[in-house]
Amino acid sequence: MAEASRSATVGSRLERGQQLLIDGQWCEASDGARCDIINPASGQVLGHAAVAAEADTDRAIQAARRSFDAGAWTGLTPAQRGKVLWTIGDLMEQHLDEIAELESLDTGKSLDATRGGEVPFAADCFRYYAGWCTKIEGATKTLSTVPDQQFHIYTRREPVGVAALIVPWNGPLVQAAWKLAPALAAGCSCILKPAQQTPLSTTRLGELAVEAGVPDGVVNILLGSGSGAGATLAADYRVDKVSFTGSTRTGREILSAASGNLKKVTLELGGKSPVIVFADADLEAAIEGAAQAIFSNAGQVCVAGSRLLVAQSVYEQVVSGVVEIARALEPGTGGHCIGPLISAEHRDSVLAWIETGQGEGATLRTGGRAVEAGGGYFLEPTVFADVEPGMQIAREEIFGPVLAAMPFPDDAAPEEVAALANDSEYGLAASVWTQDISRAHRTVAAVRAGIVWINCHGIPDMAVPFGGYRQSGWGRENGMESLLQYTELKSVVARL
Ligand code: NAP
Ligand code: MG
Repeated sequence: MAEASRSATVGSRLERGQQLLIDGQWCEASDGARCDIINPASGQVLGHAAVAAEADTDRAIQAARRSFDAGAWTGLTPAQRGKVLWTIGDLMEQHLDEIAELESLDTGKSLDATRGGEVPFAADCFRYYAGWCTKIEGATKTLSTVPDQQFHIYTRREPVGVAALIVPWNGPLVQAAWKLAPALAAGCSCILKPAQQTPLSTTRLGELAVEAGVPDGVVNILLGSGSGAGATLAADYRVDKVSFTGSTRTGREILSAASGNLKKVTLELGGKSPVIVFADADLEAAIEGAAQAIFSNAGQVCVAGSRLLVAQSVYEQVVSGVVEIARALEPGTGGHCIGPLISAEHRDSVLAWIETGQGEGATLRTGGRAVEAGGGYFLEPTVFADVEPGMQIAREEIFGPVLAAMPFPDDAAPEEVAALANDSEYGLAASVWTQDISRAHRTVAAVRAGIVWINCHGIPDMAVPFGGYRQSGWGRENGMESLLQYTELKSVVARL
């Protein structure tokens, strides 16, 4: 597979290697450790990145702590901080082509997707939270317990302190932005750790933050493994908050590591999100939507629609429609292709789930095999029909392009269909496809998920809170809700 032609800027950046950002300085790991950066669409080594040693993680935490305690960032006015965040968004847009190329090479996403979607979206995230800097407010209160004295009572929203931001590989830039922008808007000092597999857009973002005027020590970047730098950040007593996106299993580990100093924890975890198609839906749109929901980014999306629940009378039509779309998807990184999985190991784990599905007796309608294309980690888009709710492929997050379809009776009430949808330990997202307004809203009300789309799937927005019920997480990303999770609330009671 031809790699996206590489620009000179990106070429020299890759040659230099990716470094750690600690206290405003870029540096190698103290023990010189490095790892390769791989392009999953070709299997080729793109360059190398530093791997933070314990001493580097310690220095980054110290730098964040020092900058926070010295008021390096909170000492600016809210408007000044907002301007810096806005500038980061502008700089991202100025360097859109370069960042889009980096993200595409690192993740195997198409350039169309990174240039038209991820980079502008991440830039908008900084602008969205730039606006919030001047709007973080407390309230005044009136006391009832002491009737014959006067008081002035108010609340203050203060930054939570040093925030560790741990990000996965499936949307490195956007997910870093979703954490860094609100944390900075709230006044936190941050330590950002991208997944070891995808450092490229994060280090570029770090440079832009420095260029935009973020003071030394306020944004630190640790490259390296989850079991190394990640685990240390989650456990360290000098860290006040950890915001994590990744698997539910790692979420649990973070939670127990965080229990030492009871740091605040936000978790955006896995999902097994249902796409629910009623018989009266616009089927053409539903078929297209269901296919998009599971095949975009090769199913490596936390809100991937990996369970397809369809009314019996249209079940065959919908399943065959999705199968047809799956068969037409070529492996590659073009706009209408199915992209690679992030690594050979991850592809193997998805293949193992496909084998499990076959062993459980589900009908493999299409796909199921690895595709040899240009050395990349491609996999055929895969559709299983006749899946039973108890099967593992209906329950486990596979995080690949593997759909589990099952029918429900046409005369089932919305609440009964929602009960099927809710038969999962997860509760991240869902979509409901119907033209009947009451059916749509009754289903929405009964589904246990943090975001439910009606007649669409997977549309994000900075203003729309996003996160999980049940084992899909704690807290919300985006909107004011995310911002508040980087704050503490102080009540002040003054007797006059
Ligand atoms: P993961 O193993 O949980 O890794 C996510 C991040 O956590 C990476 O930066 C990883 O570092 C780090 N990490 C791993 N172990 C750690 C530990 N013990 N302490 C601290 N940090 C640790 O997840 P993944 O398998 O790479 O990513 C896919 C998963 O993420 C899927 O399950 C998906 O559902 C979930 N996800 C959820 C959302 C959401 O918004 N809810 C979004 C995207 C992805 P290294 O990888 O560098 O070792
Ligand atoms: Mg990579």
